[in-house]
Amino acid sequence: MKFIDLNIQQQRIRRSIEKRIQTVLDHGQYIMGPEIAELEAKLAGYVGVRHAIGCASGTDALLLALMAYGVKSGDAVFTTPFSFIATAEAIALLGATPVFVDIDSTTFNLDPGRLEAAIKAFTGNKPSAGTALPETSGATGLTAKGIIAVDLFGLAADYQAIAQVAEKYGLFVIEDAAQSFGADYYGKKSGGLADIGCTSFFPAKPLGGYGDGGMCFTDDDELADKMLSLRLHGQGEHRYDHVLVGINGRLDTLQAAVLLAKLEIFAEEIELRQQVAETYHELLAAEPSPVVPPRVPANYVSAWAQYSVLARDERSRTALRIRLEEAGVPTAIYYPKPLHLQPAFNYLRYARGDFPVSEDHAQRIFSLPMHPYLQKSEQEMLARVLLGG
Ligand SMILES: *Cc1c(COP(=O)(O)O)cnc(C)c1O
Repeated sequence: MKFIDLNIQQQRIRRSIEKRIQTVLDHGQYIMGPEIAELEAKLAGYVGVRHAIGCASGTDALLLALMAYGVKSGDAVFTTPFSFIATAEAIALLGATPVFVDIDSTTFNLDPGRLEAAIKAFTGNKPSAGTALPETSGATGLTAKGIIAVDLFGLAADYQAIAQVAEKYGLFVIEDAAQSFGADYYGKKSGGLADIGCTSFFPAKPLGGYGDGGMCFTDDDELADKMLSLRLHGQGEHRYDHVLVGINGRLDTLQAAVLLAKLEIFAEEIELRQQVAETYHELLAAEPSPVVPPRVPANYVSAWAQYSVLARDERSRTALRIRLEEAGVPTAIYYPKPLHLQPAFNYLRYARGDFPVSEDHAQRIFSLPMHPYLQKSEQEMLARVLLGG
């Protein structure tokens, strides 16, 4: 059994991928070739926004979004400590300060109630129960600028509640949709749920290329213009006119070509993922179960980048993973260490205990194999191993 199987997908669309690559080899426009605009137009339509801006990775998408808002040293951006490092890394790379806010224990996403409490504590420079601030906050006069919410494992964060808080305090909202492309939230597509949405085409993501890639989505013309310029070294009127300090953040033509081929079956793959998740749920919801399966709230459709369950405790998780491994079932832990405890962020002086839900989940969570082509028989075998003993 494979954790993620990209070969089955390739077998289905190999000819289409080869044809797309062949076209690029023929026209030779490896940088900003016509496939970029074609992909941007198709994905903007899919997400339901005015602008899609292809870029080199999900990390660059976050960076471009923050740069479009002019985020810099002295600014603070609220985000979750239970994510891949890239989310907070993009904030820190610009010299701004990530201010972490703990997660909701069932969705694993930024908790809107805790978000408001954190913003209040930050503004008053007074940590309160359940909030913890980086050491640098009030003293050096940081300014709260925005929020990056993450749609962890493919499930959207609660953007209606987050937008209410953001509006109240005058903050922008960026959606880190790296894991959730293809997901729905109240009838709207992930990527279009905040002021700017950022996704990743890393091969293992729901819509993955054969290398790095990413995209920004927005309805805001001004922000779109900025991001278009920023991804091309801050280009202005012509190639050697630079109006902003930008980056080399382009998406490769070849990656866009691969993604266009994969897009043909993407909607169907999202459907298949629902079936796989449903089967897991039926198999694992049986009482008593050694794991708590993930729960998708009403009006949400997850893109199921991961199917993550919670074990009773760390020891139980280790035992279950060993048992599965011995039966040939690979598992993974996303994420074993919350971001506020990463050595890279030592300078923020967060401590163990600051974000108890994230810390607890880091010790209990693990992910089961998940891809559109997982067989029911494989899932049944997995469930027998997991539940038996
Ligand atoms: C994968 C991922 C990223 C970064 O995307 P890359 O394309 O690898 O740079 C950012 N945020 C989250 C939540 C991710 O899972």
